[in-house]
Amino acid sequence: MKKIPYGKQVITEQDIEAVAAVLRSDWLTTGPAVAEFENVVKDFVGAAHGVAVSSGTAALHCAMYAIGVAPGDEVIVPAMTFAATANSVVYQGGVPIFADVDKDTLLLNVEHAESLITPRTKAIVAVDYAGQPCDYSALRTIADKHNLVLIADACHALGAESHGCRVGSLADITVFSFHPVKHITTGEGGMAVTDNIEYARRMRLFRNHGISTDFREREKQGSWHYEMVDLGFNYRMTDFQCALGISQMRSLPDFLDRRQEIAIQYAEAFKNNDDVFPLLLRPNNHHAWHLYVVKLAGRLADRKEVFQEMRAAGIGVNVHYIPVHLHPFYSHRFGYALGLCPVAEEVYRHILSLPIWPGMSNDDVDTVIKCLQQLANKPQQAAL
Ligand SMILES: *Cc1c(COP(=O)(O)O)cnc(C)c1O
Repeated sequence: MKKIPYGKQVITEQDIEAVAAVLRSDWLTTGPAVAEFENVVKDFVGAAHGVAVSSGTAALHCAMYAIGVAPGDEVIVPAMTFAATANSVVYQGGVPIFADVDKDTLLLNVEHAESLITPRTKAIVAVDYAGQPCDYSALRTIADKHNLVLIADACHALGAESHGCRVGSLADITVFSFHPVKHITTGEGGMAVTDNIEYARRMRLFRNHGISTDFREREKQGSWHYEMVDLGFNYRMTDFQCALGISQMRSLPDFLDRRQEIAIQYAEAFKNNDDVFPLLLRPNNHHAWHLYVVKLAGRLADRKEVFQEMRAAGIGVNVHYIPVHLHPFYSHRFGYALGLCPVAEEVYRHILSLPIWPGMSNDDVDTVIKCLQQLANKPQQAAL
């Protein structure tokens, strides 16, 4: 039986050659490929600075450090996201305050987020869930009004646009991930982009132990002297990963087009379906389609059964996400419980992520659609 994963990388021969070339060179880390990759990504998204790091999570942590999140500070994050969004706040001793999401898009509910602002609020993190940009103009208004930093966790949204502007140019700091299921991959990897040179400087410091010059700069200056000016981490990305990233960026436009074609195929198949409801698209947004999420209802309301039957048929459906505040760590540490974000909690019970990735064939997409349709048409168990 052919297996169809929910997401998977596409690696070309050029990608492999680009990595091999760096392996044959003098620089495996902190070399020239790092700055080149940073330039390619920041130019593509329309930001002034890019800071490449070892993962999207590391990029989030760098962002929280750069903006000065300190013990007791509050940062508003959506409940419907990957745990790393909130974890990055906790790493710096901050308190993640969970905002609910819109039931039709699963994007941050801006009014609810604003209602959670207190004198201790430092920042709002927008998550472009599934690849669709949040309402950045509303978020910018609120951030400016309350003197907050606006961070975008755009790990789903490389290549997405809102009102003609690329994600990466819409928040004070924007974070991307290059995990294999994301739009481009470097194995593990991430990047934070910003127009703010001070944030960029602080993130570079933080990814390198808090040391103020890197090895190449010291070599240029002919000096052994360096200073560790703050406590940082080793969040550096290697040159061979960056070479893969540079090469993958060349494929990104094709990857985005293919994701969009698949999304259209799904939307067409489910448009008059009473059991499968794709998420709503906001106007003037260009979606990057990291995930294709549907809400199940009617004859498919038993999500667990649908999940198990599709997995048994080799289709790698998934659920994104369990609302973060419901994880044991968050209930133990912060006392969060069911009822905190009722919309996220209710929608979570019905969502399913269908496979979407650039290497999927039209036949693969048909297989997924047919499997869902067959499950809907399965004779129901007679009521006793
Ligand atoms: C993937 C992802 C991350 C973390 O990225 P890693 O590179 O896996 O550390 C953070 N936030 C969201 C929303 C993600 O999807």
